[in-house]
Amino acid sequence: MVEEPAAPVFDLRTDTIHSGEPLLAVLQRHGLGHDEANRAIAELSLLDARRVRAGTEVVAQVHPDSGVLNVTFQLAIDRVVKLIRSGDTWVETEERLPWSVDTVAVAGVVTSTLTDAVARAAGEFPASVRTDVAYRIAQVLEYRVDMSRDLRVGDSIVALVERESTAKGHVRPGRLLATRASIGGQALEAVRFETAGGEEMYYDAEGKSMRAAFLRAPLEFSRISSVYGSRKHPILKTWRQHTGVDYAARSGTPVRSIGDGRVVFAGWKGGYGRTVEVRHANGMVSRYAHLSALGAGIRVGAPVKIASTVGRVGMTGLATGPHLHFEILVNGSHRDPRVALKNVGGEPLPASQRSAFAMRRSALLGDLNARVYAMQDGTPSAPGQSSRPGNVRPAETRAAGASN
Ligand SMILES: [Zn+2]
Repeated sequence: MVEEPAAPVFDLRTDTIHSGEPLLAVLQRHGLGHDEANRAIAELSLLDARRVRAGTEVVAQVHPDSGVLNVTFQLAIDRVVKLIRSGDTWVETEERLPWSVDTVAVAGVVTSTLTDAVARAAGEFPASVRTDVAYRIAQVLEYRVDMSRDLRVGDSIVALVERESTAKGHVRPGRLLATRASIGGQALEAVRFETAGGEEMYYDAEGKSMRAAFLRAPLEFSRISSVYGSRKHPILKTWRQHTGVDYAARSGTPVRSIGDGRVVFAGWKGGYGRTVEVRHANGMVSRYAHLSALGAGIRVGAPVKIASTVGRVGMTGLATGPHLHFEILVNGSHRDPRVALKNVGGEPLPASQRSAFAMRRSALLGDLNARVYAMQDGTPSAPGQSSRPGNVRPAETRAAGASN
C-alpha cells in the first residue's frame, strides 16, 4: 500500500518591510488582526518595532485553520528573530546561524590595482566580497607600505585567509592568518599570532609587531581613489615643486593622524584652506590640508592618538576637487613622507614567546606555500601568467582633476 506524502499543513508567506512601514502594518498584511499584532509587537525585545530596517525579510508561517503560527524577521545573514504564537500570547526567540570556517589561499600579481589583483586571485570568494579581502591585506601591511603609492605592476601578494560560510551558502572573508608580499621592491611578511596575553596581533618574519609608531598614509587604503604628485598648479597655472602627497578621496572621508602627537595648528591657512598640523614626539610635524571640517576636539594643544580623526577630506583653499594634501616637515623643511615614515618594525615579541611564534609561523607559511604551489601547478589563472604591461593605480589616475 502506497501512502501519499502528507501535504504541508501551512503556508509560508515571504515579503520585505517597505520603507517607512510600521511593523503593525507588516503583521496585519501577514494576516494578524490589529489587537493580535499589537500583542505580538509588545513581546519584541530584540528588535525595535519603530526602527526595523526597510528591506528586512519577514516570513509568516500560516495554518489554513488556525491562522499565523509564527513570524520570522531576518535581521542579518546570520541572525533571525522569531515570534511564535502560543494560545493568545506570543513568545520571542532568537536564532543565530552558525558560520563554518575553513581556510583558503589567495595569490595574485598586480597588473593594475591591488583590488584588481586580489579580485582575480580570490576565486574562493564570491565576487562581492573579494574587495574586502584586498582591504584586509592592505590593513595588515599599512604600517610598512603605502599601498596606494608603493604598488607596482608585477608586485605579488599571497595570503592565507579564513572563509566563513553558512549552510544557506553565504560566504564572507574571516581572519587573515598570514600574508607574504613583494611590494615596490620590498619583501613583506605578516603572521597572525596570539600572544601570551591572549591578544591576536600580526608579526613580521623577525617577530616584530607590524604596528609601529607611524602609519604610512593618512587615509585608509579603502578610501583612496587616487594619488598624484607634482604638476602644473591648476589655479595658479604655474609649475611648482609639489611639497607633499595628494590623496583624492570623497569629501567627508576621515583623515587620520599618522602618529601620536599634539595639535600645533588647527584652522585656516591661505591656499591650504582648513588645515591641521600635528607635532610628533620625534619633532616631526604632519600637515593635513584642504579639510572640509576639523575632527572632534581638534584644537591647538590637544593631544591626538595614532589613527584618530583629525579632520575630514574637503576642497577648502586652492583646490579644484576634494582631496587631502599631506606633508611631513622637520624643522620647517619638507621631507618625503616615504622616507620620513619608513617603519622597520614595531615592538618585538618577548623572548619567552619566540619559539611558539616560530612554530606558528612555519606552520602557516608552510601551509600557504603548499597551497600556492598547488594553485600555480594546476590552474590556468595562476599568478604570473596574466601579467601585462600597464600602469598601477597612482600613475593611471595622475590626471585626476584636483589641485595642490
Ligand atoms: Zn597637494
